[in-house]
Amino acid sequence: MAPQAYAPAPCVDALLVVDVQRDFLPGGSLAVPQGDRVVAPLNRCLAAFAAYGRPVFASRDWHPRDHCSFHAQGGPRPAHCVAGSPGAAFADGLQLPSCAQVISKATTAERDSYSAFGGTDLLQRLRAAGVTRLVVGGLATDYCVLQTVLDACEAGFQVLVLGDAIAAVDVQPGDGQRATARMQAAGARLADSAQTMRELELAAGRVVH
Ligand code: ZN
Repeated sequence: MAPQAYAPAPCVDALLVVDVQRDFLPGGSLAVPQGDRVVAPLNRCLAAFAAYGRPVFASRDWHPRDHCSFHAQGGPRPAHCVAGSPGAAFADGLQLPSCAQVISKATTAERDSYSAFGGTDLLQRLRAAGVTRLVVGGLATDYCVLQTVLDACEAGFQVLVLGDAIAAVDVQPGDGQRATARMQAAGARLADSAQTMRELELAAGRVVH
């Protein structure tokens, strides 16, 4: 007897843009080398998700002036992404659609979070929207993208990481590659953004059923 056809529940896809802020781009106080290269592929994905009415999220570091991660407080990093400052703004070229939901993280002095899930309501928002698959790009591969993707995998989401829309700090050479390997080991899939848009039937000209 032929096995009964199994029809999985349809995937609900959301796009999550991680920390594409001025301070993390070249010229910013905590610049990721070539961080600006993520903007163009992310803009294409943002436009496609918005056009097809799929949920879009954008996380951002949003620190108080005396944040624990800053040198002045004995932390490991220069001051960056102070809430409301020009450096905390999303990258100038990033075209966030009006439907984008902004997730601010590490908003109190005593707590830092690389992950967009840490101390935020992102998980509740994704669950409320019925999201099952998360498409992730942004900065930086070896810090906030890594921890966000690991948390997303642990929370049970399918995760697609946009390989051409992430950039690594690479404090130690190879950090970025090791980070992508960890994400893949956790179950995430690494894919090119154009290929992902075609797979998700979000590419221009595709009919969505
Ligand atoms: Zn920070």
